[in-house]
Amino acid sequence: MARQLDSATRDALVERVRFYRDLGLTEFYRRPVNAAIDAAVEASEPATAAAEQSTFASSPEETAYLPEEQAIAPRKPISAPPLVTTSVLASGDKAAALQLIRDDLGDCTRCALHKGRNKIVFADGDPNARLMFVGEGPGADEDAQGLPFVGRAGQLLNNMIAAMGLKREQVYIANVVKCRPPGNRTPEPEEANTCSPFLFRQIDVVRPQVLVALGATAATYLLGHRQPLAGLRGRVHAFRGMQLIVTYHPAFLLRDPRQKKEAWADLQIAMKELGLKPPKPASGS
Ligand code: SF4
Repeated sequence: MARQLDSATRDALVERVRFYRDLGLTEFYRRPVNAAIDAAVEASEPATAAAEQSTFASSPEETAYLPEEQAIAPRKPISAPPLVTTSVLASGDKAAALQLIRDDLGDCTRCALHKGRNKIVFADGDPNARLMFVGEGPGADEDAQGLPFVGRAGQLLNNMIAAMGLKREQVYIANVVKCRPPGNRTPEPEEANTCSPFLFRQIDVVRPQVLVALGATAATYLLGHRQPLAGLRGRVHAFRGMQLIVTYHPAFLLRDPRQKKEAWADLQIAMKELGLKPPKPASGS
């Protein structure tokens, strides 16, 4: 006999299931979730979308970085890529599991962004990293080199990583979309929703202890809802059994260096979760 759920639990489940369905992940949630939840997901679609439209008030910094109309993710199913082979994951060879995902991506033409790209930017870093950064998408330098965060924003990210007492090679870095949006515009929801299942598969393989979402686009597609950065920063979010921290995108920090202090405060939260202490300044400095 089906267990009765209180309304808060039911609403939370509806939101969670809808989020996964939007990612194209449908197989696993059908086991524990009953038909009533599926029906509630369907019934909640128009009302929830309208509510999200009305409650997504942009903060000044987010308005500068992520136009509101481009932050709205469409609520429609997308075709899910096959899951990483269980046996590869069970072997513990994360590099091999990530390579399977890269092979599955192939010379991808799943969304319109493929038309303008030079190179697919899959990821960079240690598959066994305890810390993972997620950005929005490649820029011109990244598109040319096929690596994430290698331009000016990448140099700033490297500095942020060094300030945490780590090397870039010790973390894993990926983006919501793997091809450069024209003119570095924010990815369209269709593009982000098509590409982000690959990011989720990468995250599920790496399974870092801490994820850092760089900017509003990464936060939106990881958390599955939109909210101004001000409401997401400064705390730890539970995310698929990991800890997620939201901070500014380095490109935004280049435009507004006054916010670096705030970003550092966010990174210190990540460091605390990881048990890291900042490197000591050189003696005499
Ligand atoms: S952005 Fe992602 S989904 Fe779109 S073409 Fe590139 S790799 Fe494929």
